[in-house]
Amino acid sequence: MTIRTGAEYLAGLRDGREVWLAGRRVDDVLAEPVLAAAAHTIARLYDQQHDPLLREVLTYQDGAERHPLSLAAPRDFRDLRRRGAAFRATAETTFGLLGRSPDFVNTAVTAFASAAPFFDKADPRFGRNVTAYHAACLAGDPFLSHTAINPPVSRARSSHEQDDPDVHMRIVRETSEGVVVRGAKLIGTLVPVADEIVVFPLPGYRPGDEAYTVAFAIPVATPGLRIVCREPLVADPSRLVSTPLAPYEEIDATCVFDDVLVPWDRVFFHGDVDAANRLYDATTARHHTGQHGIIRGAVKAELLAGIAVSLAEMSGTNSFLHVKEMLGEVLGALELARAGILAAEADAEVSEWGTLTPAIAPVLALRYHFPRMTSRMIEVIQLLGGGSLLSTPAEEDMRSELWPGIERYFRGANGVDAEQRVRMLKLAWDATGSAFGQRQMQYERYHSGDPVRLAAAQYAGYDTDPLLRTVQRALHPEQPGVDASARVIPVDAPGDGHSSGKAHS
Ligand SMILES: Cc1cc2nc3c(=O)[nH]c(=O)nc-3n(C[C@H](O)[C@H](O)[C@H](O)COP(=O)(O)OP(=O)(O)OC[C@H]3O[C@@H](n4cnc5c(N)ncnc54)[C@H](O)[C@@H]3O)c2cc1C
Repeated sequence: MTIRTGAEYLAGLRDGREVWLAGRRVDDVLAEPVLAAAAHTIARLYDQQHDPLLREVLTYQDGAERHPLSLAAPRDFRDLRRRGAAFRATAETTFGLLGRSPDFVNTAVTAFASAAPFFDKADPRFGRNVTAYHAACLAGDPFLSHTAINPPVSRARSSHEQDDPDVHMRIVRETSEGVVVRGAKLIGTLVPVADEIVVFPLPGYRPGDEAYTVAFAIPVATPGLRIVCREPLVADPSRLVSTPLAPYEEIDATCVFDDVLVPWDRVFFHGDVDAANRLYDATTARHHTGQHGIIRGAVKAELLAGIAVSLAEMSGTNSFLHVKEMLGEVLGALELARAGILAAEADAEVSEWGTLTPAIAPVLALRYHFPRMTSRMIEVIQLLGGGSLLSTPAEEDMRSELWPGIERYFRGANGVDAEQRVRMLKLAWDATGSAFGQRQMQYERYHSGDPVRLAAAQYAGYDTDPLLRTVQRALHPEQPGVDASARVIPVDAPGDGHSSGKAHS
């Protein structure tokens, strides 16, 4: 059995990694409350793999060994839905608030491995490296994190045009042992408590950026890799009444590569701008991580919708028509998120790598619309909560002698007691208004690329010809008594506005 337990995962974190938090080097990430809280949430997910009730949902048996389903490339609809159910089970444990749970990067690495010939094109050993890395993940069940983005500095310039050539991470030299990389990568969510970091490019590189295009995976404790945590969003993760979502504060970090040696067997490709720009889509990593993302998102939408309904019901406002409309709107958004998952699975197709790949159009549709839907859900929760969201006492007040004298002022409608209502209001604020809640919103906007360019990519890749043919039919209505077969509708004439003129692969 190769699936690890939470205890095994936690034990592996004391490995001399270089993590910086609020001006201090952290000797032991498990001794830092914020990092430890995140690590224990991950440990719980590892333990779930052994839970008799969830083991079959989250993992699969292969001979004498058992592996996470996120490391199994789907071959048919049964596999795809089974993997979707595993994503859902993990997301349910974390309310969809942990974007980079271990199954996320597992899914990307599995897509890379299934597309080994893509990496072979640069050099056959890179395809072998990707395959071997996937095999090592199957054998060791490490927690993988990733970074793909370069520090902005100037987004108007490509990597090699930046004033400082060492800001975007690049290969500074090759040795017989491997490549040496220098510079920084963003945003390394959960890197401080991960076992490995997988670095790969997202589209946007230009000719001249060759040295900046590289994909690889290394242990987080690799010498020269410096992890700089962002400021924690939760002051004290043990205050679980005041900040009930603290266990899901997945710390983000900047990863600084200070002349880090990446051994050749961990290099997946380098020095190829075209491959770098195509990698995420061509390997279908975008499709498979996209399935993960929309399932996780829908689970979060369930939490937000539930909070909205609870707030309305506990304040008795659910009898007002405009509140009912808001609740219907929120529930409708949830249903659209769920429908997108079904569409991505139902329209899945076998990729050139032989894997059954979720349809990208519904994934991209939700990538664009889900942040807007989430934003509106947050607004509805805040409208329903009103000033009450900002008038709850601290959890220490609720445990003090003050509370019996004031608790009547915090009760809700329909017999909801004060503690229940205050906890609900705090949950609502944590999910929407706290620093934690605000990060969640920013995560939905940006977790897998810039939504503006992704929407443009949706247009560029969408088969709009059937839509244009529909327009042609509308422009040339059938006349009663005229033989329809005699009508000539120029559906494919180029340059006349009837065809999208876009190339579809
Ligand atoms: C909370 C959070 C967690 C994340 N976790 C991870 C992670 O674990 N691993 C990881 O690799 N990444 C992670 N990301 C990063 C994510 O991939 C990026 O935020 C996303 O790809 C957008 O890139 P950016 O942040 O650099 O924004 P930019 O690309 O700089 O975009 C910012 C704004 O500038 C505009 N813009 C910038 N450049 C252009 C251009 N060339 N053309 C047109 N418009 C442009 C955009 O439209 C946008 O409005 C995370 C992000 C967030 C917010």
